[in-house]
Amino acid sequence: MCIFCDIIEGKIPSKKLYEDDDILAILDISQTTKGHSLVMPKKHYDNFLAMPNKEFSNLMSKVQELALQIKTNSKCTGINILINTGKSAGQSVEHIHVHIIPRYDENDSINIEFKENAYDLDEVLKTLKGA
Ligand code: 5GP
Ligand code: ZN
Repeated sequence: MCIFCDIIEGKIPSKKLYEDDDILAILDISQTTKGHSLVMPKKHYDNFLAMPNKEFSNLMSKVQELALQIKTNSKCTGINILINTGKSAGQSVEHIHVHIIPRYDENDSINIEFKENAYDLDEVLKTLKGA
């Protein structure tokens, strides 16, 4: 059991944006930006790597649909789609969920920064390919 399973079962209240037999979308309690939402499967998987591919595809298809709905209705100018996987990546709830974060301008209350590093790219590729 986890906090999102409790939300799915109605034991903890939530603001529901969308629900069907397999998927629930709710407003994130933090509202990092206005309309920050979470989309999750009703079936518990610890993270996205643990989720069967077909169910993940289905989830992401709904994420795209909801992102379009949010963009149309919130008048945001951009959207970040985020899946934190593992503690080091910022995952705090171990039930796979996709963040939909509407963006209104570059100085709103979320900052995603890609810093540069000078790694040897051939070495990196070798590692990633398991060569
Ligand atoms: P994570 O850090 O695991 O990617 O994201 C977890 C998210 O769940 C956070 O953005 C946090 O604000 C949100 N959250 C945690 N507890 C609750 C809750 O009880 N209700 C709602 N609606 N969101 C929650
Ligand atoms: Zn769960």
